[in-house]
Amino acid sequence: MSENQSKPFSYEIFPQCGIVAYFSMEIAIDPKMPTYSGGLGVLAGDTLRSAADLGVPLVAFTLAHRQGYFQQVLDSNGVQSEQSQPWNPADRLKEIPVRVTVSIEDRVVTVRAWRYDVVGRYGHIVPIFLLDTDLDGNTAWDRGLTDHLYGGDSNYRLQQEIILGMGGVRILNALGLTTNVYHMNEGHAALLTLALLESQLGGGPALPITESDVAAVQAKCVFTTHTPVPAGHDRFSTEQAIRILGGERTARLEKLDCITDGFLNMTTMALRFSRYANGVALKHGAVSRAMFPKNNIDSITNGVHAPTWLSEPMQNLFDKHIPAWRRDNLYLRNAIDLPVAELIDVHDQAKQTLFTEIATVTGKVLNPNVLTLGFARRAATYKRADLLFTDPQRLAEIAQAAGGLQIIYGGKAHPQDQPGKAIIKKVIETAAKLSNDSLRIIYLENYNWELGALLTAGVDVWVNTPRRPYEASGTSGMKAALNGVPSLSILDGWWIEGCIENVTGWAIEDGEDDLAEAFALYRKLESSVLPLYRSGMEKWAEIMRTTIAHNGSFFNTNRMVKQYTRNSYYPVQLTEETNVVEPAFVKAGTRD
Ligand SMILES: *Cc1c(COP(=O)(O)O)cnc(C)c1O
Repeated sequence: MSENQSKPFSYEIFPQCGIVAYFSMEIAIDPKMPTYSGGLGVLAGDTLRSAADLGVPLVAFTLAHRQGYFQQVLDSNGVQSEQSQPWNPADRLKEIPVRVTVSIEDRVVTVRAWRYDVVGRYGHIVPIFLLDTDLDGNTAWDRGLTDHLYGGDSNYRLQQEIILGMGGVRILNALGLTTNVYHMNEGHAALLTLALLESQLGGGPALPITESDVAAVQAKCVFTTHTPVPAGHDRFSTEQAIRILGGERTARLEKLDCITDGFLNMTTMALRFSRYANGVALKHGAVSRAMFPKNNIDSITNGVHAPTWLSEPMQNLFDKHIPAWRRDNLYLRNAIDLPVAELIDVHDQAKQTLFTEIATVTGKVLNPNVLTLGFARRAATYKRADLLFTDPQRLAEIAQAAGGLQIIYGGKAHPQDQPGKAIIKKVIETAAKLSNDSLRIIYLENYNWELGALLTAGVDVWVNTPRRPYEASGTSGMKAALNGVPSLSILDGWWIEGCIENVTGWAIEDGEDDLAEAFALYRKLESSVLPLYRSGMEKWAEIMRTTIAHNGSFFNTNRMVKQYTRNSYYPVQLTEETNVVEPAFVKAGTRD
């Protein structure tokens, strides 16, 4: 990737179709730019990297987030505190010579944009426009609106969403780009439809609307939902909408059924104005259809950008034995024939790189010959980072009997998420009490892109323990799979599709409650994972090969962006025929 190029971007494929404009509140653009918080932003970044590789004519919009998300500091008791991550877009990016305005409360706010170019493998460029209100002429409050990712209260959030959706559409128009598809990545971007509706009406908010105006907007919009539970959907009270968006706009949205039970629900709004919508895994599509039964919601399972998440030695191994993998990740199916000895060697290198980093930052030395589990993700309560500690004594006994076990944790809790912070504290406290010669547990501070890449490549098994059905997809296990690291996980999200027992990893069987699932986790660790590891690296390398062949070849954004291109952006045909029939294993949420 290179920055600051002002070459025009090209329209190599589908020139008749115009551009896709992709809108996301967060995008993991570069490890040194704090413009993301977690899975949603990483997915957005990986999507754009693959779109650039594949030559899809796409441009993207997000906010500059001048103060970033936050840097996590953990004290010795496991208490999290936060530091902001100020960065200056001018140090890295070029400002584009275009300014637009949006109206917020009763103010006119000027918006500018910084451009970053994602350069694909064959030179195709996907420009990202980072919107910024830090301008003379805006009030001090408005200058701060593009500072904090997921900071402030819901008033701040709604104002940011006006900038993203309405500001983004206006920048696009000012640039004169013919755009036929607007992709809302999660409901945060839903207000772009309001800007489109207003330009459809030729201006002012007070004009009457017909269904054909709505249809004209729908024809251009597609939507991806990422949220599997009703409480997770972004929404604002009618009072907030009237105060911040304005009375006439709010009345219009009410007429168009976007306001229910006194709330403007951004998912409802995005669905109302889209011709196509999808969830991010087969199961999540089904869960979303149950939540929004009036809508036809398809499924496109998430992926990760393979070259971004593969360790350097693994990339070299693929280049040697499967040279076509960079052009088309499906060729990773041929990993089934990788020489076992080379695969073991490459994984050892990734493990050593991780352990060296851990020794540098913590002073703790881990043993490369001991089975090492990884668990790192947002410290949200539903992810149950403490599930492994349900019965600490049992865990200690398992480790002792196996002749050693190492567990590496990481993850930030949102600054306002007190229960999430309590889980981090509990994990760190328990780790301190339990750690002994046979059981080593480490919690790494400030989980981010770079640490995520080291961990998913360097551990032996990736663990995920969400409470069903809260995990829409999950993508960290996909990064692990590409690196030949099998998963030990609850059957939720992508893992329902990815788990083949003893071939790509292991399922933690569904239980009635947390306790039952914790025992299922201990059983699987004790009776399947540890015995296989002890049976020798040759046997272990077999599961590494099948993990890459089955899951690395599929759970990548190279495949995913092709699906978006033909199912969502430029559909082969516009029909009602979406994935309403589920495979039996998705229905049941389990598979044998
Ligand atoms: C991949 C990634 C995630 C997503 O992890 P899941 O828990 O699998 O959804 C979150 N944060 C970072 C830094 C990542 O790299």
